[in-house]
Amino acid sequence: MENNEYLNKLTQRNIKPTAIRILILRTMMQSERAVSLLDLENLLDTVGKPTIFRTITHFLSHRLIHSIDDGTGSLKYAVCGNACTCAVEDLHSHFYCESCHKTFCLENIHIPMVELPKGFTLQSINYVLKGLCVDCSAKLEHITIT
Ligand SMILES: [Zn+2]
Ligand SMILES: [Zn+2]
Repeated sequence: MENNEYLNKLTQRNIKPTAIRILILRTMMQSERAVSLLDLENLLDTVGKPTIFRTITHFLSHRLIHSIDDGTGSLKYAVCGNACTCAVEDLHSHFYCESCHKTFCLENIHIPMVELPKGFTLQSINYVLKGLCVDCSAKLEHITIT
């Protein structure tokens, strides 16, 4: 992706594009999985921890990214699709690999809608599937064959 496209993605969400913001967005999009703050710190050794934290908070409040509670105790973050408003009907499932501990967005798998008892108001759903990711499943297959 061209730098221009990251820039557009930021401005589309009313975020003023700065070099750091573009860098963090690019890193998140290139990692192809959801990242924790610690992952970002490791991926971006030139950027300070407070800057990463501030940027992530800013991205979240502008709905450029969403957070995922995969049950590991540290939140993961992933970039939202252009049309995503983070409303319940936009939410997708997430997959946590129990072998390599990576968390992925399953953007094409909408979370199943449930009928709530009267009086309850739904605000969000956390739908995390657990198992083995593509890479780890392939490795397992390899072990069983040989
Ligand atoms: Zn895996
Ligand atoms: Zn996601």
